Amino acid sequence: MAENLNLFTSTQEVIKKALQKLGYDEGMYELLKEPLRMLEVRIPVKMDNGQVKVFTGYRAQHNDAVGPTKGGVRFHPNVSEEEVKALSMWMTLKAGIVDLPYGGGKGGVICDPRQMSMGELERLSRGYVRATSQIVGPTKDIPAPDVFTNAQIMAWMMDEYSRMDEFNSPGFITGKPIVLGGSLGRDKATAQGVTIVIEEAAKRRNIDIKDARIVIQGFGNAGSFLAKFLSDLGAKVVGISDAYGALYDPEGLDIDYLLDRRDSFGTVTTLFENTISNKELLELECDILVPAAIENQLTAENAHRIKAGIVVEAANGPTTSEATKILNERGILLVPDVLASAGGVTVSYFEWVQNNQGYYWTEEEVNEKLLKKMVEAFDNVYTVATSRNIDMRLAAYMVGVRKTAEASRFRGWV
Ligand code: GLU
Repeated sequence: MAENLNLFTSTQEVIKKALQKLGYDEGMYELLKEPLRMLEVRIPVKMDNGQVKVFTGYRAQHNDAVGPTKGGVRFHPNVSEEEVKALSMWMTLKAGIVDLPYGGGKGGVICDPRQMSMGELERLSRGYVRATSQIVGPTKDIPAPDVFTNAQIMAWMMDEYSRMDEFNSPGFITGKPIVLGGSLGRDKATAQGVTIVIEEAAKRRNIDIKDARIVIQGFGNAGSFLAKFLSDLGAKVVGISDAYGALYDPEGLDIDYLLDRRDSFGTVTTLFENTISNKELLELECDILVPAAIENQLTAENAHRIKAGIVVEAANGPTTSEATKILNERGILLVPDVLASAGGVTVSYFEWVQNNQGYYWTEEEVNEKLLKKMVEAFDNVYTVATSRNIDMRLAAYMVGVRKTAEASRFRGWV
């Protein structure tokens, strides 16, 4: 049988199992197997050449029993309705794992920002907010950055929302520039969170991070900061990659140099001659492997050849369910995406809290609070996994879905 590479149906499968283990019946699964709300919009944008191009966008709201929905907006050619749906469900899980008062949401626009001018991007960003304005808002659904969206895009979106609302609404969106109410530490939060769970996982496996050899797939926002944090901790980052190839040095790569040379989309390998493929990178000799790029990278085909003792998913959905099973059987500690990448939404929550109270924290305060949340989250998931003898992914889904299921029941929805 062919492997299930569909993120949406494989997410549903694990949610189903998690709810069963928690003792919920089929009715709860019926409620949570899809988003409560899914909006598809068409956004006309005047392009620089004078012609109008109509873009398709989405916003999915998985469940708002716990609180407003929350999650990023991605701008990418591969955005699809199914992907946005699956990602909104993952946001529910992430919020549950780090215990935030939110449900999951997600948005996306089918476009290629690498081919667009700043003016076109601004008009598209503002158009997206106008098109979705009826269902989003600071107490309804709070967007944030995601793949190929950034603080500048959040600023345009916040400005557009504030114009419609007729007063300044910093709490409408997170991941903003600091001067517009962004939080210190938000830009590095995802990588900080991954670093914290890597340290926790290493402790459980008696690996000293200073001796650890680490391979990171991806050198974008998450991957590159992560490489920097880990090398600052004394770890040897022996491999990194981007969309075009990978670099390997068993003695450890010079991360500062690579950071200096990469472009804003994370491309750096094109500057080197001695590269290896992404496929080879994943099978390198190392202690910790961090897929931080795209989905379906570890599959039934290569999972047997992974040499790392710990795999930490910094990307969304890099491991198929069959590969999860194989890695688990081989005794490899797999830290799932919904736990490992929850640092971003955690500091987004801190940003929203600061916007609501109008009082801002120092970077140390933010990092301290993030550390506490991530360590607790790792501990909860690890304890469920070991005490129930299940893999970390199923354990993370159990921890992640519990709050939304309970809140839905208290509200009388099921
Ligand atoms: N897009 C990020 C995620 O998938 C961040 C979401 C947020 O900050 O709300 O977790």
